[in-house]
Amino acid sequence: MARVRILVTNDDGITSPGIHAVAAALGALGEVWIVAPDRERTAVGHAVTLHKPLRITKMAPRVFMVNGTPVDCVNLALVKVLPGRPSLIVSGINRGVNLGDDVMYSGTVSGALEGTILGIPSIAVSQEGDETFRFDVGAQYAARVAAEVLRHGLPPETILNVNIPNVPVRSIKGVKVTCLSRRRFNNPIVEKVDPRGRKYYWIAGTRQSWSRENDADHEALERRMVSVTPIHLDTTHHEVLEQFKAWEQPLSRPSARAKTVKPHARRRAQA
Ligand SMILES: [Mg+2]
Repeated sequence: MARVRILVTNDDGITSPGIHAVAAALGALGEVWIVAPDRERTAVGHAVTLHKPLRITKMAPRVFMVNGTPVDCVNLALVKVLPGRPSLIVSGINRGVNLGDDVMYSGTVSGALEGTILGIPSIAVSQEGDETFRFDVGAQYAARVAAEVLRHGLPPETILNVNIPNVPVRSIKGVKVTCLSRRRFNNPIVEKVDPRGRKYYWIAGTRQSWSRENDADHEALERRMVSVTPIHLDTTHHEVLEQFKAWEQPLSRPSARAKTVKPHARRRAQA
């Protein structure tokens, strides 16, 4: 039987202890390959590097770093590093949660999304914490979720976004399947003045509230439960498609302004 191959990436970079903790735990399930950014790429989202050369550096057997984003890493891993397609991609363990809207910015989640786009079951794993992070706890639960995914697969175009509470493993109350919440920051932009008297800005925002309570991912963590949120690649808002069909006709009509453009004016514009 072919050995299970697992690709691990992250957005905190190759030196982050989170990626090595999860890689060690996943070793019980199959052959683990690490392909990760050479430095921290947190909040880089789904960025792809198009304007500079990418290089792959081998650090150890089945451990590689790339001077790119998590999405770059997944693509290079599949085409240039791994000897064949992996059965699973795990992105993480991230230093800090990826809850609610975080998934729109997160390089960790994007690493998993890219795997899903390429047709490989993928999960993103993030560890709640502050100064220190219990990656041992995150790794245990990441391996449990990974084993389930390897056993059952995932529905098409679906990733699992896993967040682990910052408590010892004996204090975890269980695992809850959740919805994404909506994070509200207070004072998200901090204005300061530099030594030359010019204003500068820092995207910050520490205090927050949440707009969804029932079955929300953040609520699971508050209850000391591991949160598992299925996320679908198709972000089309299917429920309002019909409503917007009414816009098709007016938007399709040639505009009044376009009709009044004289041929010679058009020729001048093209010159
Ligand atoms: Mg990160």
